[in-house]
Amino acid sequence: MKITSVNAVYPRYARIPKSWRTTLWQIVVRVETDTGITGYGYGGGGLAAVEVVNGHFAELLNGRSLDATGDITSIWDVLYEASIPYGRKGVAIMALSGVDLALWDALGKAERKPVAELLGGVRKERVRAYATGADTDWYAELGFTAHKMPHRWNGSPVDYDSAVNAAKHAREMFGSDAEIMFDVYMSWDHATTIEMAKRLSEYRLHWFEDVLTPDDLEANASLRPLVKPTLIAGGEHEFTHVGFSDVARTGAYNVWQPDITWCGGITAGLRIVEMGRQAGVQVVPHRGGEVWGLHLIAATECEDFGEVLPGMRGVARDEVWLGEPVASDGYLSINDEPGFGVQPNPELM
Ligand SMILES: [Mg+2]
Repeated sequence: MKITSVNAVYPRYARIPKSWRTTLWQIVVRVETDTGITGYGYGGGGLAAVEVVNGHFAELLNGRSLDATGDITSIWDVLYEASIPYGRKGVAIMALSGVDLALWDALGKAERKPVAELLGGVRKERVRAYATGADTDWYAELGFTAHKMPHRWNGSPVDYDSAVNAAKHAREMFGSDAEIMFDVYMSWDHATTIEMAKRLSEYRLHWFEDVLTPDDLEANASLRPLVKPTLIAGGEHEFTHVGFSDVARTGAYNVWQPDITWCGGITAGLRIVEMGRQAGVQVVPHRGGEVWGLHLIAATECEDFGEVLPGMRGVARDEVWLGEPVASDGYLSINDEPGFGVQPNPELM
C-alpha cells in the first residue's frame, strides 16, 4: 500500500496540570493509505511536534510504500536524517515517534496482526504491571505487586524523613515481596542519593529513577556501585539508539527506560533493546504499560515489567485512547486486535 496522507493533532486536553505539558504533551498522528487502512500513533512534543509532522514530515511521506517492516525502518532513517538540522533529540524525535507508531499500526492492520506479531511474536502472554503515582493505598487495593512513587528534593533535611516515611508506608501496604521504586525526577544530587540509599536500605527499594540529569551520564554511572543493591534507572529523557549508545558507553544506568512515544517509536525501541541486551542491562520502557510500549515488552527481551499511571482514586482523566488494556490483579495483556488495537477518543480530537 501507499501512504496518502499524514496528519498530527494536539488533543483538546482538559485536565493537564500547568507545566511544560500544557502545550507540549502527547500528540496523535494519523497515517492514511490508498487501501483505506488508517494507522494511529502517539508521539510527544505537543504543538511543536504537530508542526514538525504537518509542516515537514508529511510531504516526505506522501506516496511512500508501506508493505513490510523494512519500509518502516527506511522511513525512520529518512525522517531522522531530514530532521538533523533541528532534531536528533527532543521535540523532533517525539514527533518522529508518533509517525513511526502510526506506520506500525497501519502495517499491523494491513497484515491483520497485532504489532507484537510483526515484531516476531508474543513471548509474554501477560506482563507484570507497576503502578506509578502518589495514591499508594489505592494501588495496593487494586492488586498491583509493584509501585513507584514520586519523591522530590525540596532542599531541606525533612526530605529524608518524607522519603523514609513513604518507603515504610509502601512496604507495609504492598508487603515484603513487592517491588518498590522511587522516581525523583532529577531532584537529588550525588551526595543526597548516597545518603538516601543508606537511610532507605531497610525498605529494599528496587530502583532510584532519574536521580541526576541525563547530561550527567558518568556521574549516574558512578552511583551504581554506591547504592547497591538498589538499581539506578533512567532514560526517559534520552532519544534514539544514537543517544542510548552514550548511555551504553558510560554505563550510566542498570535499568534503561526509553519512552516509546518519545525516543523514536518501535523502530528506535527495537534498536535500543538490542543495545541493552549487548550491554547486559534491563530495559523497562517508560509508561510501558500503554499499548505502544506494551507490544514491544510482550515481543522482545524487555523486562517483564510495564509501567501504568492509574492517577488518583476518584479523579477523572483525559483518556486519549479507547481500547487500552487495563491492568487486572497487577498484570497486563495485549489483545489480538490488529495493529495496536486502540482508537483515538473522538471527544478529545
Ligand atoms: Mg520517570
